[in-house]
Amino acid sequence: MSALVVCEDIWKIYRLGDVEVQALRGIDLLIEEGEFVAIMGASGSGKSTLMNILGCLDHPTRGRYLLRGVDVAGLGANQLAEIRNRQIGFVFQNFNLIPRTSALENVQLPLFYRGMPLRQQRVLAAEALARVGLQGREGHYPSQLSGGQQQRVAIARALVVSPSLLLADEPTGNLDSTSSQEIMDILSRLNKEQGITIILVTHEIDIAAYAKRELVMKDGRIVADRHIARDASSLSVETS
Ligand code: ADP
Ligand code: MG
Repeated sequence: MSALVVCEDIWKIYRLGDVEVQALRGIDLLIEEGEFVAIMGASGSGKSTLMNILGCLDHPTRGRYLLRGVDVAGLGANQLAEIRNRQIGFVFQNFNLIPRTSALENVQLPLFYRGMPLRQQRVLAAEALARVGLQGREGHYPSQLSGGQQQRVAIARALVVSPSLLLADEPTGNLDSTSSQEIMDILSRLNKEQGITIILVTHEIDIAAYAKRELVMKDGRIVADRHIARDASSLSVETS
C-alpha cells in the first residue's frame, strides 16, 4: 500500500469580520490507497471543512496536503480542476443531480467536461449506472427516481471517471434506513472489489460500521483514530 492522502498540521481559520473561527486545528492524517474511512463527530467539528480540503475544493490556512505525494498548494486552478475531475469523486447528502436531465446525462457530465466523444460518454455512463444497479433507468429524470436511486446516480457520476478517491459527505443523511443500507453496500463493494479509497462523513454509528477505520473529530481536531477489525462476512455485501 502507498500513501494517498497525507495531511501535515492542517489548520483552517475562517475570519468573519472580527470573529475568527478555527474550523481545523492541526490535522495530521495519513490514508493509504484502498482504505475505507468513516469520519464522525458532532455538527460543527470540522468534518465538511476537512472533506473540502481533501477534495481540493478549498485550501488550508496553514499546513500541507499531499495527494499521491503531490503538494496541492503548489498547483494552479487548472491543475486543481484536472485533479478534481480525474482523481476524485464526490457524493453529497443532497445528491446534487441536475434536474430535468436524464440519469445517463447526469453521469455523462464529467466525461463531457473531459471532451470525450459522445458515443464513448454514453457507453461509460451506462456501465457506471449498471454498476450501481440502475440498468433500465438511464432515461429517468431525478424527479422520477427515489432518494436512494438518485444517490446511486450520484455515485455512478462519481465513479465514471475511475477516481482513486471517493469522498462522501453524509451520503445517507437524507435516506431511509433501507436505502442507506443499499448505498453502503454499494460503497463497500466498490472499496472491496475495485480498491477505491473511500472517505465518508457520517454521524450514524451503523453507517460508520461499514468502514474499516473510524476517525472522530472534535473542535477541529482528530480525537480518535481506530482500525475496525471485522469479519467481512458479517456485512450484507457478501450476499448477491
Ligand atoms: P461539520 O461538517 O463537522 O458540521 P464544518 O466543517 O461545516 O463542520 O464547520 C466547522 C466550523 O467552521 C463550524 O464552526 C462552522 O460554523 C465553521 N465554518 C464552516 N464553513 C465556514 C465558512 N465558509 N465561513 C465561516 N465559518 C465556517
Ligand atoms: Mg458537515
